[in-house]
Amino acid sequence: VRRLSIALVHHPVLDAKGTSGTSTLTTMDVHDLARSARTYGCQSFYIVHPVEAQRVLAERIVDHWTHGSSAKRIPDRKEALSIVRIVPTLEDAIVASSGSGRPFVWVTAARAQRSVKTWAEARAELLGEGPPVLLVFGTSWGLAPEVIASADALLEPIRGPVPWNHLSVRAACAIALDRLVGER
Ligand code: SAM
Repeated sequence: VRRLSIALVHHPVLDAKGTSGTSTLTTMDVHDLARSARTYGCQSFYIVHPVEAQRVLAERIVDHWTHGSSAKRIPDRKEALSIVRIVPTLEDAIVASSGSGRPFVWVTAARAQRSVKTWAEARAELLGEGPPVLLVFGTSWGLAPEVIASADALLEPIRGPVPWNHLSVRAACAIALDRLVGER
């Protein structure tokens, strides 16, 4: 089984006008993605933010649940938050998640902008041997095209029975992890 980590990217992401920029941290993403990552056995959950004040905010949230008063009140959450790592760039997350070699970077998007890896292919690859995998999620209007273009693979968009498929990143992350490594 290959090592799997996730990353939540706040830069570079698209805004409503399709311009590349930086999004603000959604505090709910911190614990919700941490719980999903912990449940599905991820090594780490990287929060990628280039703005120092936003990284400090993320650190404070993590610290509150891992060392603060709430660590004693809700110890289960402490265990989930303990895998959170806060880094300035996606490259930092890539370097930090490498094992014996650079990880494979798999990105996610609601729209297929290049040829995709199916969930079945990705699941089979993860169950085999190989370098670690870093699964990347966007914020705002999604990952900037250059992040998608430079990744090793774009995963197939998650779809239901209707064309509309713009999930929250929290839902997308949980569904993706379940498809990739959930018990069958
Ligand atoms: N403000 C939004 C929120 O509430 O989370 C942020 C939306 S952000 C574009 C959602 C991210 O979740 C995308 O960048 C992508 O990583 C993932 N995502 C959303 N819908 C998806 C889908 N149908 N298939 C695959 N990934 C999806």
